[in-house]
Amino acid sequence: MKAIHKPNILLIYTGGTIGMIKDADTGALKAFNFKKLIKGIPELKLLDCNIETVSFENPIDSSNMQITDWQKIAVIIEEKYNDFDGFVVLHGSDTMSYSASALSFMFENLDKPVVFTGSQLPIGDLRTDAKENLITAIQIASLQDNGKPVIQEVSLYFEYKLYRGNRTTKISAEHFNAFTSPNFPELVESGVHLKVNNAILLKQKTTKKLKVNTSFDDNVLILKLFPGINKTILHSLLNTPNLKGVILETYGSGNAPMENWFISEIENAIQRGLHIINVTQCSGGSVLMGTYETSTQLKEIGLISGKNITTEAAIAKLMYLLGQNMSKSEFKTAFETPLRGEMND
Ligand code: ASP
Repeated sequence: MKAIHKPNILLIYTGGTIGMIKDADTGALKAFNFKKLIKGIPELKLLDCNIETVSFENPIDSSNMQITDWQKIAVIIEEKYNDFDGFVVLHGSDTMSYSASALSFMFENLDKPVVFTGSQLPIGDLRTDAKENLITAIQIASLQDNGKPVIQEVSLYFEYKLYRGNRTTKISAEHFNAFTSPNFPELVESGVHLKVNNAILLKQKTTKKLKVNTSFDDNVLILKLFPGINKTILHSLLNTPNLKGVILETYGSGNAPMENWFISEIENAIQRGLHIINVTQCSGGSVLMGTYETSTQLKEIGLISGKNITTEAAIAKLMYLLGQNMSKSEFKTAFETPLRGEMND
């Protein structure tokens, strides 16, 4: 009889509310010891997989996440890739969508699950959402079909739903249902059964080995348009020394003011070599330059279309692509092409 292989799952603890306790003096939540966190969930022993754990030496609130922390997570996964069938990353919810997006770009030829999760209440809290999130994230990371992982991409599990990580955005600082994926359906829904939306999952087609690209360039900016935006300030921001790329959050389907000074500031920046990406500030829908008069010029002067990418994925993709040293035209093509399912074609 063929031996049944129990999936090996690596749990990577980076910090976040899930493992925090109240500081006795100030009452503020701060990260604490991972071993204690695991003791708080004896149910983990009942799961049908082998779980090993690794923790950041100093767990952090995810508001302190840096590019170096993304690199740390990627290197842990790269080093342990052949020993495990799936990876669950425990992470604060505040910047989880940024990290999940960044990691999705870093991993080329990924054929195993990397599931980000966290919680709104600490694990020790009586009404915590941490247990369900963690237990189901591990179960999803363990799902196999014919000996191969069902999920082969970077995803995010929160409150009964597994999303493609680079499609998510945090929408609530209060509700357990803290994330949404405005332009892409859930990969898995957790109810009485785990309902897997097989048709939309990314599946690794090549037999190429995992490649981890850890270079990023942080000379970037997110600029959200608002009525009343001032010429001097825009000029000064776009002329920031070393600035290489801007995510321009425009209105609706990619629209912006038509005033001459505005268009020429943007045009000059593009001619100086800056990459400017048009992303909508709406929570759903896509940029479609040329639909309105207010976006026709933007298209003509060479703005890159972010299509229906989230701002979180856009800034991560911008920093990632800038780190890959491409020519101007290669950059535009690469940004407008879905690399890891982060936008529609
Ligand atoms: N501030 C926390 C963090 O992002 C919130 C959370 O974990 O949900 O680390």
